[in-house]
Amino acid sequence: MKILVINAGSSSLKYQLIDMNGEVTIAKGLCERIGIDGKFTHKVDGKEFKKDVDMPDHTAAFAQVKEALTEGEGKVINDLSEVTAVGHRAVQGGTAFAKSVRITDEVIGKIKEYQALAPLHNPATIKGIEASVATFGPDVPQVAVFDTAFHQTMPEVAYLWGIPYELYEKHGIRRYGFHGTSHRFVSARCCELLGKPDGKGTRIITCHLGNGSSIAAIKDGKVIDTTMGLTPLDGFLMGTRCGVLDPSAVTFIMEKEGLSPKEMDDLMNKKSGMLGISGVSSDDRDIAAAIEEGNPRAKLAWDMRTYQIMKYIGGYVAALGGLDAIVFTAGIGENQKLLRAEILEKMAYLGVKVDYEANDVRGVEREITTPDSAVRGFIIPTNEELVIARDTMSLV
Ligand code: ADP
Repeated sequence: MKILVINAGSSSLKYQLIDMNGEVTIAKGLCERIGIDGKFTHKVDGKEFKKDVDMPDHTAAFAQVKEALTEGEGKVINDLSEVTAVGHRAVQGGTAFAKSVRITDEVIGKIKEYQALAPLHNPATIKGIEASVATFGPDVPQVAVFDTAFHQTMPEVAYLWGIPYELYEKHGIRRYGFHGTSHRFVSARCCELLGKPDGKGTRIITCHLGNGSSIAAIKDGKVIDTTMGLTPLDGFLMGTRCGVLDPSAVTFIMEKEGLSPKEMDDLMNKKSGMLGISGVSSDDRDIAAAIEEGNPRAKLAWDMRTYQIMKYIGGYVAALGGLDAIVFTAGIGENQKLLRAEILEKMAYLGVKVDYEANDVRGVEREITTPDSAVRGFIIPTNEELVIARDTMSLV
């Protein structure tokens, strides 16, 4: 069975064709600058096929994907009929979706309903779904896998904020959490590594550290708290996002700087975080290089992030009533040994002991604490596309 996984952004579309027999990626690629000037990349067996091609909308992008998969040098299938189903990454599923679902008109209606909560993401998901249905026809099943779904097990005490309850009832203002597909994948794998595949009796903290970052506290295989909130802005310093701050600072800055809500949103989402503090870059490799060169603000950004992460971990250990394992994943979590070691060192009070030699790796699954460490630490590379493909297969 072959499953096509789609991750649609407002001007981009990532795809991956996965053969579920052996769970191997047959081809993958990226349509960028949709509706602008169009750049297309298709990858098969380590070979890359790139072209500049006008893609006025997502349906045009799908036409490129179809052509790349079925024709020319990068061809991997004869016909689109070889694709059994399509799985879509969807961002905000609100309280309606605690699990992945087959896409129906009703599901599309719900995703549209939650648009107000994810104005950048949900319209893109809809575009991807509509273009996919237009390409594959109504008979090929389409599945939606939500970033928020895995976090739906959080209790009220964790997902509500202390504002008038009516605002929650009226507008759904609450913590939803994101990166759920990744937290789910790595925590499930961690449970296997702990010898408890059903998750029962486990207390795990998963750290998804990428451009966007979030941490989740997972008890018995279910999320009990996570750092991202109503939107992916809450939590700790990210590449360009500020993470937590005093809510009054928002209105104060808007007044002082004369900013509109949209401008303030841009400031917090695009000009803050590691970029905002360091003034150097949002990319962790640039930050690390600037620290090497002695840049004090790059070092400050780095130290602020570690400090904030340490505080969340401490809080989550309390919420979990102890800790069995901590997992690092995503671009920074999988590749940045210094940050992993620093975080684990700050957990020495829990009896955590770093295995520095084991930690000296990139992007591989590895236990990075010593056998006598009171809490086990792991690097577990995430694979959100595989989760989407697996969910899609099980629903069709
Ligand atoms: P997203 O999916 O949120 O865009 P990723 O999970 O791809 O982000 O992570 C991107 C981050 O990972 C960047 O800050 C980048 O610097 C960092 N990163 C990627 N590769 C490495 C590496 N080899 N060493 C250190 N950091 C890395």
